[in-house]
Amino acid sequence: MSDRPLLGCIADDFTGATDLANNLVREGMRTLQTIGVPEGGLDEPADAIVVALKSRTIPAAEAVAQSLQALHWLRERGVRQVYFKVCSTFDSTPQGNIGPVTEALLDALGSDFTIACPAFPANQRSVFRGHLFVGDLLLSDSGMRHHPLTPMTDANLVRVLQAQTRRRVGLVPWEVVARGPAAIRERFEAMRAQGIGIAIVDAIADEDLRRIGPALDGMPLVTAGSGIAIGLPQNWRARGLLGEAGGADTLPPATGARAIVSGSCSVATNAQVRDFLARGGTACAIDPLALAQGRDLAAEALATLVPRLGERPVLAYATAEPQQVLAVQQQLGVERAGALVEQALARIAAGLVESGVRQLIVAGGETSGAVVQALGVRQLAIGPQIDPGVPWTAARTPRAGGDWLHLALKSGNFGGTDFFSDAFDRLCS
Ligand code: ADP
Repeated sequence: MSDRPLLGCIADDFTGATDLANNLVREGMRTLQTIGVPEGGLDEPADAIVVALKSRTIPAAEAVAQSLQALHWLRERGVRQVYFKVCSTFDSTPQGNIGPVTEALLDALGSDFTIACPAFPANQRSVFRGHLFVGDLLLSDSGMRHHPLTPMTDANLVRVLQAQTRRRVGLVPWEVVARGPAAIRERFEAMRAQGIGIAIVDAIADEDLRRIGPALDGMPLVTAGSGIAIGLPQNWRARGLLGEAGGADTLPPATGARAIVSGSCSVATNAQVRDFLARGGTACAIDPLALAQGRDLAAEALATLVPRLGERPVLAYATAEPQQVLAVQQQLGVERAGALVEQALARIAAGLVESGVRQLIVAGGETSGAVVQALGVRQLAIGPQIDPGVPWTAARTPRAGGDWLHLALKSGNFGGTDFFSDAFDRLCS
């Protein structure tokens, strides 16, 4: 086993980072996710590190600068390979940021060739003839064509990426991938000789990802969605640098009281909150209009919930049905409503942890960002998967004294109806 991390990843958003970390853990790599580029070193030893940035839609020059800063920090940790994690729907604009960041990372690593592959067939993302499919639909026919920030109106990834980079972009077609790692490697070399710098790679089944993996052995930079990651750990395992799969998701034992903080208004979260209430759990609703009138609902919620803390989880929620949310947003404005709720829930989460909660579920992507910030969490050790894409994690926070805090950060539509009870059952104490 290596005492230094093997793989250093730079993810262009937070939930994408967790998705990648989750895949690496499932393939047997102990993985630590950081929120932004840390100032110091690693809290825990790890085989892989995923630095979560928020660089997907910021100006390209800023995305490049942040990614290079992350690269510098990862190289100081001694990583042997760098992974630039992009969205599995290749979310980007004609200006970037996939092309400019990939190019800058290649330059900084002194490398002239990499792949760009968002494929993850098990999750409905496949690439054929360089065209990205979302389920049965071409990317350009999927809902992504209406995305507010990064509308994807062209499914031809060679063309999409070529518009963002000065390096030449080529394609490794599926027939080559199907012949296996040696054929893929040979094709990489041929493309390189022709002056191609970035290869889109076809993959229509997860077996393709495992064929591509060995061909990436020793490649300084890999640009990909989270799927390609499942083929990489075997390279280090083959060299004796990584133990057998299993056990990488072990977290410290869970202790303390249980709570849930929910600011997501998605369909799945609404069902989860209803299910929690139907089981008779202790809960406090947070009304954005009362917050806007100056009521200190965070203090009120803590006064109700703290005396009930224990093994049965308590819940604080602003989760509401779409028509209620719309009515609130019409009165307060979307941003003010969001900010008021996020602030209140973050204060509640911090107060709960200070009062003994050591197992916390947060529902909502933006809500998770606000809670993690309020808790001062900078690094997350990734543990067992609860539902696809959502693992338990463990973190240090000044609010929990010297204890570990177990955190599950669930974005919007993830998780089954009984997620708020099922998740705790999966945590070993
Ligand atoms: P999701 O992952 O489901 O998108 P987020 O936490 O990312 O959830 O986003 C939900 C947003 O809605 C947050 O900014 C939150 O503060 C806000 N919000 C939550 N409840 C309400 C509500 N009842 N009325 C208006 N806005 C709300």
